[in-house]
Amino acid sequence: MGKIISICNQKGGVGKTTTAINLSSSLALKRKKVLLVDMDPLGNSTIGAGLDKDFVTSTIVDVLLNNKNIDDCIHNTQYGISIIPSSLDLAMIDPTLNGMNISKEEILKEKLDSIRKNFDYIIIDCPPSLGLLNTNSLVSSDSCIVPVQCEYYAVEGLMSLLSTIRKIQTSYNSELVIEGILLTMFDSRVKMNHDIALEVRNFFDECVFNTNIPRCVKIPMSQKKGKPVYFYDKNCSASNAYIKLAEELISKNG
Ligand code: ADP
Ligand code: MG
Repeated sequence: MGKIISICNQKGGVGKTTTAINLSSSLALKRKKVLLVDMDPLGNSTIGAGLDKDFVTSTIVDVLLNNKNIDDCIHNTQYGISIIPSSLDLAMIDPTLNGMNISKEEILKEKLDSIRKNFDYIIIDCPPSLGLLNTNSLVSSDSCIVPVQCEYYAVEGLMSLLSTIRKIQTSYNSELVIEGILLTMFDSRVKMNHDIALEVRNFFDECVFNTNIPRCVKIPMSQKKGKPVYFYDKNCSASNAYIKLAEELISKNG
């Protein structure tokens, strides 16, 4: 049975999408069968995995709203991973689902449960909000990875996310656990980054992944080309870090 992991943090710009793409492709390089699910209407994971958003026909919207067979919405990429792409229409999901008489928090879970046997890992890229898209993602998931940038108020931001996770655990998914907090865009030359990393590690202890993701210029460059960073520069610091993260995740779940 595949493990379903949400990459979540209600804060934007912390490295959720970057982690979703590059952890997925690194797991695939380790011979794992991986499905990436893009739950963000902006579709940055979809573009970052090399798909052309204007040309994909079956998306996560068809899975969630149009009752399309989920297998028909899974696309292969050149990078060893499969993806269910997103579409801008996903932004309309909250009002649409709120008007329907169904258990609207559990739609994604039901769909992913039907295909999880086909994958080792299903990685969900969550949007930076606390609406139904995030709820559906967390309700479907066995665990979540929380990317955090080494900035002031990192710990405070995490506390509010933890309270969201607790609500999901109480109401829908008592099995949900935190797979790990991931320090992203770490710049070893900046003292503040070391200070905040230490603060987060002191506070959350072994909940924090040993691997930090360094700030690396190859990340935005690879995203511009629609490639995971390994396929842009397999020797850069970010490629190495995401491979190490995949190894850490695999050994934790071994
Ligand atoms: P989120 O999905 O949480 O909004 P993104 O993954 O889109 O965050 O990252 C936000 C921005 O930071 C993007 O422009 C991305 O290219 C950049 N970025 C993310 N991780 C790194 C990194 N390790 N090094 C350099 N830039 C990064
Ligand atoms: Mg994102």
